[in-house]
Amino acid sequence: MIPVTKPYLPPLEEYTHYLEGIWKRQWLTNNGPLVNELELKVSDYLGLKNFLFLNNGTFAIQVALKALGITGEVITTPFSYVATTSSLVWEGCKPVFVDIHPETFNIDPEKIEAAITAETTAILATHVYGNPCDVVKIDAIAKKHSLKVIYDGAHCFGVKYKGKSIFEYGDVSTASFHATKLFHTVEGGGVFTNNKELHKKMALMRNFGHDGPEVFSELGVNGKNSEFHAAIGLVNLKKVEAIIQKRKQLSINYDQKLGDIKLQKPKIDRSVEFNYGYYPVLFEDEKAAITCMTRLNRSQIFPRRYFYPSLVHLPYIQEDALPISEDISKRVLCLPLYYELSFEEVDLICRIINSVYS
Ligand SMILES: *Cc1c(COP(=O)(O)O)cnc(C)c1O
Repeated sequence: MIPVTKPYLPPLEEYTHYLEGIWKRQWLTNNGPLVNELELKVSDYLGLKNFLFLNNGTFAIQVALKALGITGEVITTPFSYVATTSSLVWEGCKPVFVDIHPETFNIDPEKIEAAITAETTAILATHVYGNPCDVVKIDAIAKKHSLKVIYDGAHCFGVKYKGKSIFEYGDVSTASFHATKLFHTVEGGGVFTNNKELHKKMALMRNFGHDGPEVFSELGVNGKNSEFHAAIGLVNLKKVEAIIQKRKQLSINYDQKLGDIKLQKPKIDRSVEFNYGYYPVLFEDEKAAITCMTRLNRSQIFPRRYFYPSLVHLPYIQEDALPISEDISKRVLCLPLYYELSFEEVDLICRIINSVYS
């Protein structure tokens, strides 16, 4: 069986080494030494100052919205994972969808201004598949209209734009370290901001607002993560460079083997240092995508319709016509891509897809 992704699992001894330390210290959670070490090492690896390790990438979006005081309408993308939209609704905000660009699959900055109203307070955009949004245009629009910007960077670990981490852009950037992501802590997530006060506020918010054992200086909930999750992160972080390189080689192999049928892929700007988190391909129509998926499934290969459906179809959302997101969500497939995938398996996948076209 070849799934669309497989979580990376390090050699068990490397993890048990950390477990021995946890057993000795008997410190399991609540901002323990491994959580602190992970925060420092991730910041160091990405070249960032303020990073908070959280329980998941969805809470990361929620705490960013809360800490920035976002209310009313938020401009967002219909082409993302459901968590981008559901967190907005959960936090009492109204998502206002703006269609995506047909070449990048990211929110189209040219269409943002037309959607701004007196109620708009923020833009929440996803760097889809780790491909950065047009952060320069988005930041200019946000400044002009005094809006906050949050980037859902769930796919972006290790991505750089113009020489610095993509997490440097916007008021807050979020990350997910879920098991399916390129760098993972089983469950986990993070927020990044260059604003010290905001960082402090989110640190309090993730820990019930505790500012000392008897002082509560913010409204907070439980967004913490544990020593066990931090430990797997510390082990996996040592391997992340090798993981990115292997994914890059596999992606190049896909490009070569699928070259003749000219499937469209998201356009990535030249200033981007990419992380090869996903291998999305766009078929000419929905029928071709489903035919390829069915043929692959017959050989126990499971690509994923990611993202499908377009988020305007969520039951708690007022339906809206966004033709580009609608079209792309129906035609896109993410092909299998993970550290343990072999070049032979990529060859097999490509042979099956090519056979549909011959
Ligand atoms: C995975 C993902 C999330 C949610 O992250 P969790 O850690 O699973 O909560 C949010 N947004 C996008 C785009 C994602 O892919």
